[in-house]
Amino acid sequence: MHTPAVEPAQLLTVPASAPALTGMFPEELEAELASWGEPRYRAKQILEWVFQKRARSYADMTSLSKALRTRLESTHPLHTMRIAAVQGAKDTTQKFLFRLHDGRYVESVLIPANRAAFGEQSDRRTICVSSQVGCAYDCKFCASGLAGFTRNLRPDEIVEQVLQVEAHSGERIDNIVFMGMGEPLANFTSVTRAIRIIQAEWGIGIGARHITVSTSGLAPQIKKLADFPLPVRLAISFHGATDEVRERIMPVNRKYPLDVLMEALAYFRDRKKQKITLEYILIEDVNDQPEHAAALARRARSIQAKVNLIPYNTVEGLPWTRPSDLTQDAFLAILESGSVPATIRREKGHDIDAACGQLRLKQEIAEGRFPEQPPPIL
Ligand code: SAH
Repeated sequence: MHTPAVEPAQLLTVPASAPALTGMFPEELEAELASWGEPRYRAKQILEWVFQKRARSYADMTSLSKALRTRLESTHPLHTMRIAAVQGAKDTTQKFLFRLHDGRYVESVLIPANRAAFGEQSDRRTICVSSQVGCAYDCKFCASGLAGFTRNLRPDEIVEQVLQVEAHSGERIDNIVFMGMGEPLANFTSVTRAIRIIQAEWGIGIGARHITVSTSGLAPQIKKLADFPLPVRLAISFHGATDEVRERIMPVNRKYPLDVLMEALAYFRDRKKQKITLEYILIEDVNDQPEHAAALARRARSIQAKVNLIPYNTVEGLPWTRPSDLTQDAFLAILESGSVPATIRREKGHDIDAACGQLRLKQEIAEGRFPEQPPPIL
């Protein structure tokens, strides 16, 4: 494990255990405030300051007494993280590096309207959020897991990514994908709570059709989500349509092989009555051949899924490369001729749309957390 040299002086003065306000439900805040002798309407008033008026500090909440603001500050901090770096210009894809209260880092990516956002040419402003610090699933092509798993994000740390990126960009976000760092379904409780807050009328107010959870394929949790009373879209990081190919790049496939995964996906489709997206990174000489496309087409058809092809973004220290445009086109053509709805995300986001996790890795290496060279992974 990595034992970071965290310099407490640089951190916010927030106890790690304090439930930050943006992770709380109104009834929880109401109960707490009632125990302080505050009137019932107070919770609603505070949440309006946060989510409607977008107050960035308790000091801004001028309709509250100073004593109450001070008490709230020390029990339920409004913010426990800050933007440590932003890459990319306004109107292009931007990457945000957040420093958390314990000195750890996560990333969010903001994709402006009218760019190809995760397979769909979208008029929506999309944010790609992280759900964990690091990742335990060890996909062989991905930067997020290179340094292993550190911890789950709390609900407020997920909600805050949206609020802070909105505040920074000055524009509302109306599409959220859990495709940043981490495995959202391995942090089920916090992720579903955050989604509730993001969807709520009293919260951020983003519709269920515009929130997508992406998973590396945790079959039991996919079923749990199917049964969970929360409307949300599902995307799967598929990347291989045979166990042989998938296992080579995604160790999770040993635990939940394709037959088990497909059964969970069919269950989700039936319960939630919606189309699932299969994300498929094209990696040269690994999964980009015509027979791979044919196998993918069969899998996708069997659950009426759509496919989103993503040419691989090279990661420093990893050996994989993206196939030529010609190979990508041929792959897409096979899907299309197999009647599978498919798109290809060609937008590169230039040098910064590289997979989530890279910016954080660089930062942590700069701080001496990790060895200069990530461990060779193959
Ligand atoms: N753990 C979840 C959420 C992370 S999503 C999941 O696996 O779905 C992050 C997405 O980016 C995944 O689809 C992942 O496969 C993809 N990805 C990771 N590294 C990439 C790279 N170098 N190039 C392109 N996509 C990558």
